[in-house]
Amino acid sequence: MIARKMIKYVEGSSVIRAMFEEGKRLAAKYGDLNVYDFSLGNPSTPPPASVRQAMSDIINEVNPLKLHGYMNNSGHEDVRMAVAASLNKKFGTSFSYKNIIMTVGAAGGLNVVLKSIIDPGDEVIAFAPYFGEYNNYVANFDGSMVIVPPCIPSFQPDTRVFEEKITKLTKAVIINTPNNPTGVVYSEDTIKQIAQILNKKQEEYGTQIYLVSDEPYRELVYDGKEVPYITKYYKNTIVSYSYSKSLSLPGERIGYLVIPDEADDYESLTCAANVANRILGFVNAPSIMQLTVARCLEETTDITIYDTNRKLLYNKLKSLGFGCTEPEGAFYLWVKTPCENDMEFVNKAKEFHLLLVPGSSFMCNGYVRIAYCVDTDMIKRSFAAFEKLAAYYNL
Ligand code: PLP
Repeated sequence: MIARKMIKYVEGSSVIRAMFEEGKRLAAKYGDLNVYDFSLGNPSTPPPASVRQAMSDIINEVNPLKLHGYMNNSGHEDVRMAVAASLNKKFGTSFSYKNIIMTVGAAGGLNVVLKSIIDPGDEVIAFAPYFGEYNNYVANFDGSMVIVPPCIPSFQPDTRVFEEKITKLTKAVIINTPNNPTGVVYSEDTIKQIAQILNKKQEEYGTQIYLVSDEPYRELVYDGKEVPYITKYYKNTIVSYSYSKSLSLPGERIGYLVIPDEADDYESLTCAANVANRILGFVNAPSIMQLTVARCLEETTDITIYDTNRKLLYNKLKSLGFGCTEPEGAFYLWVKTPCENDMEFVNKAKEFHLLLVPGSSFMCNGYVRIAYCVDTDMIKRSFAAFEKLAAYYNL
């Protein structure tokens, strides 16, 4: 008999599995070229050639005892030094290797942070729409999720409601910019407001509230959009970075945390994160991937393909009459459903072989997410199906 706590997770994941199975069923029936799967955020551009070159060089060059051995749970010291130096160069920060903890991707990093700071009953605030896995990560540590709705149509966080939702129990706030699922980049003004509210509330309650910045899409921005570096605005920031999207390496599980010196309880926090990496069972981030990213810190995947896809899809869906949020980053298009119930829309889209993800998976009903990290030709082939969908809803 599985644990009672696991039952709802298993049920939740069967919904995603069902969508995956449905995609396979449709492809078997109608042919791969006639099914348009926009459901997954799996990068469609390969890692830069230098990444694969670095991996093979490392196997040949690095002492096998270092390459394959245990290490400090926070990662190889030289890798952490290289990551800190690269951040300092890019953002004018002054991190040392002691501020960097290598992690098993953003999912691993977020779980390490939450394990380090959350006691049962502590509250974690997130701004809808958000990556639904946050609910599971917070539940892992018996925290309680508090949801702040967005400002519509900008999809910037509603800072007025945010302020109201902060209580004595608020331990962390998670932000994600560029955002999955909206593609919106939070403005500097939004970040300043969040920082100012957090400072005020910490003082009012005499508590510490950590701002956890989940940043797998930091480099995926278009039209020269700037993404503010959060540690510069609020001292109790913890950055959780991932190379899953920026280097197209989601299966390799590599990222890092930044815990700045000025964060409250910096010493015990970094110790806790180090121990959490071990006792959550990660022990340390994969060694070869740490050494690989350290050699590719100035590299990013080719985002021109995502940019092409973004423009194609956004322009087409707008021209058909769909209400779309113009994506500034990440690789998702956020579309208002012409009917109230997003599941109904997703099911109707499926009849035209379009696989979309309902906004309710991101705690925001009435929208769908279209992941455009796909083959550009598939987007072009899908246009006729979107036309039929628009016609069905009389747009
Ligand atoms: N956070 C967000 C917002 C994501 O979209 C994802 C993955 O899609 C993750 C975290 C998890 O990323 P990783 O593969 O680095 O664990």
